[in-house]
Amino acid sequence: MEKISQDGIELEIREHTDGDFFPEKCPICEGEEIRRHTYKIRTIQDLGTPLICRRIRYERIYFKCKTCDSVFSIEHPLIPIGARYMPGVIKYAVSRVLERGDSIRRVTRDLNELHYVKVSLATTEKWVNKYGKKGKLSSEFSKEKTPTGFSGFITLDGTFKSMKTKKNDRKVE
Ligand SMILES: [Zn+2]
Repeated sequence: MEKISQDGIELEIREHTDGDFFPEKCPICEGEEIRRHTYKIRTIQDLGTPLICRRIRYERIYFKCKTCDSVFSIEHPLIPIGARYMPGVIKYAVSRVLERGDSIRRVTRDLNELHYVKVSLATTEKWVNKYGKKGKLSSEFSKEKTPTGFSGFITLDGTFKSMKTKKNDRKVE
């Protein structure tokens, strides 16, 4: 982890590499002689604080099988393929809009000004639309078999996650 001071704002860079998950076998021929082929360095934005700007330096590696010459990549467990933002950023935005009722405009502004995430209104809107529209959630969820204590939160991979409390429960306790 690198830390660089910048106008009183700390830039925190975490490094992730596909090399930490070096494949043991070729997915095509199951050959075991695998080597690095090429790589790309990508910067991915993560959720910061008013004093810390967080970025991920991600090395995406393309591997080559010595036996069959296939070139392939892996899916890093923390970084979805093609991601420009860490999943936590998207989860935070979607959660604020859908669970807490904050406007997309306000959440976008907070991401930019309080969390050092450069994001446009259109992108935040896209996340919210992708993971469920406000008001639409409850009717869609009712078709599903609802687990006990289900909060209606949707995870990034599209599966439903059960939580202990149910925030939208209308029953007065
Ligand atoms: Zn192979």
